[in-house]
Amino acid sequence: MAQILMDNDGVLKARGCISNLDHIPMLCGISDVPGKQIKIECCQTSFCNNATFPFIIPSGMTDGNYGTGRVILIYVVPILVVVAVAGLVVLLLRRSYNRRIRQYAAAVAASAITPNYYRDELRVTAAGDSTLREIFNDSITSGSGSGLPLLIQRTLAKQIWLAEVIGKGRYGEVWCGVWQGEKVAVKIFFSRDEASWARETEIYSTVLLRHENILGFYGSDMTSRGSCTQLWLVTHYHPRGSLYDHLNAHTLDHTELITIALSTINGLLHLHTEIFGTQGKPAIAHRDIKSKNILVKLNGACVIADFGLAVMHTQKTGEINISNNPRVGTKRYMSPEVLNEMMNMSVFESFRKVDIYALGLVLWEVCRRCVSNGLVDEYTPPFHDVVPNDPSFDDMKKVVCVDQYRPMIPNRWTSDPVLTGMSKIIRECWHQNPNVRLTALRVKKSLMKLAQEESKNKLDLEY
Ligand code: ADP
Ligand code: MG
Repeated sequence: MAQILMDNDGVLKARGCISNLDHIPMLCGISDVPGKQIKIECCQTSFCNNATFPFIIPSGMTDGNYGTGRVILIYVVPILVVVAVAGLVVLLLRRSYNRRIRQYAAAVAASAITPNYYRDELRVTAAGDSTLREIFNDSITSGSGSGLPLLIQRTLAKQIWLAEVIGKGRYGEVWCGVWQGEKVAVKIFFSRDEASWARETEIYSTVLLRHENILGFYGSDMTSRGSCTQLWLVTHYHPRGSLYDHLNAHTLDHTELITIALSTINGLLHLHTEIFGTQGKPAIAHRDIKSKNILVKLNGACVIADFGLAVMHTQKTGEINISNNPRVGTKRYMSPEVLNEMMNMSVFESFRKVDIYALGLVLWEVCRRCVSNGLVDEYTPPFHDVVPNDPSFDDMKKVVCVDQYRPMIPNRWTSDPVLTGMSKIIRECWHQNPNVRLTALRVKKSLMKLAQEESKNKLDLEY
């Protein structure tokens, strides 16, 4: 039995051993000598009376409060230390959080977004010093399809502030948000429309898809929150909104018309074209071309958006990769062969022809808003004069297949060379017979010719 002798100040006086177990009750414990309190601590294993034994006993302690002191030393002190460290961590986190709030507020102030919505679970977190555009530009050269590196995509939803709703489609909501101080568009899909989200993500991840006339893609994220799955698709934000919104709000001059038409066909041509090689790109058909799925950039050029229905094709395998998405295209823009169910789905060219038909209708919408000789037509969607709002499949079939009706070309167009040229292209796009329709490349060439003539005429007028 090892022993340690201390005085009532907790000062160690002596260490030793007792060999006779009968002495334990007498020699282990506290004994009160008048004016002095002596504490003898005992322990049983070899060398247990070394420097770490016993615990320091504050002076003046009796046997009872010695127990309390021991409890304080063993349990309360470590707990206090843990609480203090945790408090420090919380304090540091709060300071960093407040700093990010300030950064966000500065970003919002700079970009004039008025935030009216904030979800608890969404925070802006800075990812090093890289800006969104830097990471994005780096990823262009990474050769892994469009969008940010996958690891960054997986945390997107947690890092974006949603500011305001900018669009509502049939398949969800589109928000303007801020990520790392830059505005982004966030398309949030209803969870029942996972197929559209998956297809759109797949299309945007296609190698070599990136193009100045295809909506720029940052990334997709699927997060679960409780029982609910959130499906996000993050893209470039275009404050002018869709071509549909733009045409409703503005009239166009010839240059603006040609910019819209040429950029749109550039985007569609890139989509439709297969690029061969190890890092090739499949041919893609959009299947839902309409003015609401085309966005207008600040420079007046357009980008094609909404790839939830798109279909891919590679000549090598001959396979047509069509998703099993129950969604169908917009009825108003459906071609005659889709409406009468005569389309040959096993030939990829058929899908291209369907896009060209819809493009013809979009070009018609655009031309109506182009001023010629001081005249302009109000914005109307195609077939507004012959079908109700939200027309049924049968409404459209009757007009497009049975009556073979097409939107009216206004008389005023005939006295304007650009609009006359455009009407010729439009008619060749929406032809009843898909095989007679122009290809995207043909449309592009015709539009370029028109643009050249227009700029020559403009120069002739100026000099
Ligand atoms: P849906 O699949 O629901 O039709 P879209 O992708 O077509 O969704 O977007 C719906 C609307 O949201 C568009 O018509 C447009 O007005 C707006 N919108 C979509 N993406 C953007 C964007 N990147 N920038 C600005 N507005 C957008
Ligand atoms: Mg859409």
